[in-house]
Amino acid sequence: MKHLSAVNKYFWKYRYRFFIGIIFVVTSNYFTVLAPEITGYVVDKVQQHLSATHPGTPKKYDGFVTYLLGNMEKINSFSTVVVVCCVTILLVAILRGVLMFFMRQTIIVMSRHIEYDQKNEVYKHYQQLDAGFYKTHSTGDLMNRIAEDVSRVRMYTGPALMYFINLLTLIILSVVNMWRQDARLAMIVLAPLPILSVTIYLVNSIIHKKSTKVQSLLSDLTTNAQESYSGIRVIKSFVQERAMLGFFGKNSEEYRKNAIGLAKVEAIYFPSMGLMIGLSTLLTIYFGGMEALADPYKISVIVAFVMYINMLTFPVSSVGWVASMVQRAAASQKRLNEFLDTVPAVQQPAIGAFAGNVTGDIVFNNVSFTYAHTGIQALKNVSFTVKQGQKVLIIGKTGSGKSTIAQLLLRFYDPSEGTVGIGGANIAKMPLPLLRNSISYVPQDVFLFSDSIEGNISFGLQQKAPIENIRNAAANAAIDAEIMELPAGYQTTVGERGVTLSGGQKQRVSIARALIKQPQIMLFDDSLSAVDAKTENSIINNFKTLEADKTVIIITHRIFTVVNFDQIIIVEDGHIIEQGTHAQLLEREGYYAELYNLQVLSGLQPQ
Ligand code: ADP
Ligand code: MG
Repeated sequence: MKHLSAVNKYFWKYRYRFFIGIIFVVTSNYFTVLAPEITGYVVDKVQQHLSATHPGTPKKYDGFVTYLLGNMEKINSFSTVVVVCCVTILLVAILRGVLMFFMRQTIIVMSRHIEYDQKNEVYKHYQQLDAGFYKTHSTGDLMNRIAEDVSRVRMYTGPALMYFINLLTLIILSVVNMWRQDARLAMIVLAPLPILSVTIYLVNSIIHKKSTKVQSLLSDLTTNAQESYSGIRVIKSFVQERAMLGFFGKNSEEYRKNAIGLAKVEAIYFPSMGLMIGLSTLLTIYFGGMEALADPYKISVIVAFVMYINMLTFPVSSVGWVASMVQRAAASQKRLNEFLDTVPAVQQPAIGAFAGNVTGDIVFNNVSFTYAHTGIQALKNVSFTVKQGQKVLIIGKTGSGKSTIAQLLLRFYDPSEGTVGIGGANIAKMPLPLLRNSISYVPQDVFLFSDSIEGNISFGLQQKAPIENIRNAAANAAIDAEIMELPAGYQTTVGERGVTLSGGQKQRVSIARALIKQPQIMLFDDSLSAVDAKTENSIINNFKTLEADKTVIIITHRIFTVVNFDQIIIVEDGHIIEQGTHAQLLEREGYYAELYNLQVLSGLQPQ
């Protein structure tokens, strides 16, 4: 329960709505309990009418009823009295219905507002969390928390709370009225109800446990099915359809068994509830009947009590349901709190910590970095300097630490040791948006949104760019001609809901997205790996000529000789092993020279 205190701030935010909601609940229940009162009154009238000889014990009615029906004493016609009573019951029911409508309108609507606020809170927090967080949590998990867990918490702030207040007031009002009419009978009749509540709570816990199991089995089943669809080509080519079917069948059998078990428990639920209610009714009629032998006025009490018991059926049986809703909400809020309490590892600097201009000068000063969750040391004492406008190539094998350098420059992570500087300032002092706006980054695993190509290219821009600019960027990324050939040109939707582009096309659209932004620094992480050598050369040439004043860093595992790079950095195993210009490195006859011989001179790569 303590986890749920995290939503109290929202109750406070919507306190007026909540308070008015509670008033609606109380008043609607007040009208609910009037119906048995008035019915009792009618029965008494009938009694009087039939046996005027037996006065019996005069009864006391609820204040409102006394006022309402007091005037009726003046009416002489018996049938008029009955008709007036019926109309009153009808009016009371309508009033109650209207109030219930407003009760839902206030409390359930409040819970929707809270749900909305909480979703935004979680989403906002997600966006602040660092790359390390996203590596340790699966997308499915994140989706689940923002969707499933938030809506479970809403079941607490809305329905659970509303039913609870409703139940509490209805029980109190009914018990008070029953007590006033006949305390002894009330005690006898109400005795089975707590047992009923406890039983229902227990049964509900079993149902909850079973349904959680069924839920998780279902999720396994879905994951299993989903994998077989996405991996269908692998399954077919390895002729594993049978094995997959067997696996699916086993999962599905398990699911069926559990679902049937759940249905069985649920089937016991309602009959056992009926039994308890029947028992209370029986007690009323038996003991009430005994009393009525001595006092005919008691007949109206029996009638009213039977009505009360039926009225209490739903609220009492919902106790267990409400309790399990609250339990689930608490578990969900606990999961949400885990996220909300996670402090982003990359922190925004204090406002005003940076006063200067971002330039294209980059300094890595003795930088070491270890990935926290795996303990892999990806960089060891890396130092290099890049001057504004330089074109730099970083070469290294897979796993040598190239992408890590890029991610540190963007501050997706902070270095474990050493500093990264841009324009003479430590990047940790720069506001994150300023830093990231100054760098155009094409990640190794390119990503396009389900949007038009135009939308994808202009993604990083503040305002809408004219189509000429977009085409120009695409042309420099050597993709314009191919886009124009698509059915809807730049308006063609790509990604999951549209045309599937090839790996190389995706890379070039991403490059166009980076080129149009025109920042100080451009960073391409293995962004040409799926592009043929000729196109690759022309794109790199474009970088050199068009972005003369910009700093351009190209990460690759291949050598490019078409362009005279100002600096070539060779990394291996997290270290910089060689550094210099093409000519200097060839002279050294080290790793670079060897690679050059292998990739270029041997003719593997066209010049
Ligand atoms: P490259 O880009 O040169 O292929 P990376 O910088 O991606 O190399 O990786 C360097 C080392 O760090 C590798 O050993 C890799 O396994 C590890 N590594 C990379 N990314 C992560 C990550 N997110 N979490 C843990 N280890 C990582
Ligand atoms: Mg990489």
